[in-house]
Formats: sequence, C-alpha cells, structure tokens
Amino acid sequence: MDTKVKGIVLASKDYKENDKLLWLLTPIGKLTVLAKGVKKPKAKLKPASMPFCFGEYLLTNKGGEIYTLTSCEVIDSFFDITSDYDSFLIGCKMLDIAGKIVNEENGLDIMLLLLKLLNLVAYVDLNDYVVFVKYLTEILSNIGFRLNLDKCSKCGEKFLTKVYLDTDTGEVLCPSCKTSSSVDITINEYTIIRLICKTDFDNLKNLKFDETVLKNISKILIKNIANKLNITIKNL
Ligand SMILES: [Zn+2]
Repeated sequence: MDTKVKGIVLASKDYKENDKLLWLLTPIGKLTVLAKGVKKPKAKLKPASMPFCFGEYLLTNKGGEIYTLTSCEVIDSFFDITSDYDSFLIGCKMLDIAGKIVNEENGLDIMLLLLKLLNLVAYVDLNDYVVFVKYLTEILSNIGFRLNLDKCSKCGEKFLTKVYLDTDTGEVLCPSCKTSSSVDITINEYTIIRLICKTDFDNLKNLKFDETVLKNISKILIKNIANKLNITIKNL
C-alpha cells in the first residue's frame, strides 16, 4: 500500500551496506522507514534521509511495521541549523523529545509545533534557549500538564519569595504547599518561564535572558516531562 505523508526526519541509522533506517514524525504518528541506497554518494534521496528534513514522503508498505521510502519532495531541509553548534544541539534535543512523546493522536500537533520552532532556530536571530524553553512548556501542555503560573495551584496565593514545581503533578506551588517531589525555582526563573509561556512564537525574538538561567529552567522542565511520561530524557 502506498502512503503519501508529510513528515520530519527525527533520526536515522545506518542499515546494511548502503541503506538507512529513518524515524519519521508524521500526522499519523512515528513511522519507521527504510531508505534504500541513500548512503551512496550520489543518491537522489540522500537529502530526504537527513535528520531535520521536512518533506512530502511517498512510502510503500507491504505489511509489517517498516515502510519503504519511494520518493520525497523536500519542503525544507533546515540545513541552517547545522551551521551553529547551540542551534544544532537544541534542534537535536527537540527532535529527540518529539520522538519520545509522539503518538497517533498528537502527531499533527507535535509536527506543527516542531516546524514553527525549528523555523525560529534556523532562520531567526534569537536566543535558541528561549525557543527551547517555549518548546518544553508547549510539550507539557500537549501531554496534559499546562503549567498554571499565575498563583499557587493549591492555596491560590501569589508567589512572593520562592516557587516550587511539583515534578509529579506539574503544579506550581508556594513554600507552604510544596511536597517532597517539588523542586524549587527562584523568582527570577519563575518570572522567565511565565514570560516565555505568555509570549507568542513571533515575539520570542524580543526576549533576552541569561543563558545559564535558561539552561537550568530547561533542565527542570525536561525532568518534569520525563517524570510525567515515565521516560528517560537526557539533558542538553
Ligand atoms: Zn500554596
């Protein structure tokens, strides 16, 4: 059976002498695709087998789990991401996380989110870590744990000194309501997460924060996502 589907290559792995296996994020979930001959230097489908490539893929399936790549119309290779080390690292982490949370139901949402944010990382002059934090908060919402950042989720108090993020429930809590699974975030980190959450994609370029703080926030949010889904996600 032939399937025509838009997709982003999340990862690829050498397979046999000249082939590669690809993992493709599509609106119908994550597909495993055999790309024959793409390791040959002049292979026509080589660009379609590279991570980050977004295209319209024509796949065949003769039963079983693995599809075979027939042709692909590349829409954007996002090649620019590879020109900067931080962009590349963040892009790879975004693909990694997408691959871990995608299923048949959320495929389209995750693909659209990834496309929007890869566009920013590749083509817009901004702090890529801001984009990464935005991505993580959007992923949390997608898996059903939208962060409620306006007041303590338990008692409704406004935050004054410290804020706690419960890594089991995803609730944002005040010092009186924190639990044993809460990690503390400084008011500064809290303010930054809140600002990034409230800023739409087009205006992220106007946000500038210290990179070390953004990295620390990413670490907390990654831990949160991993706990929720009971999966392992390595840090940046
Ligand atoms: Zn409270």
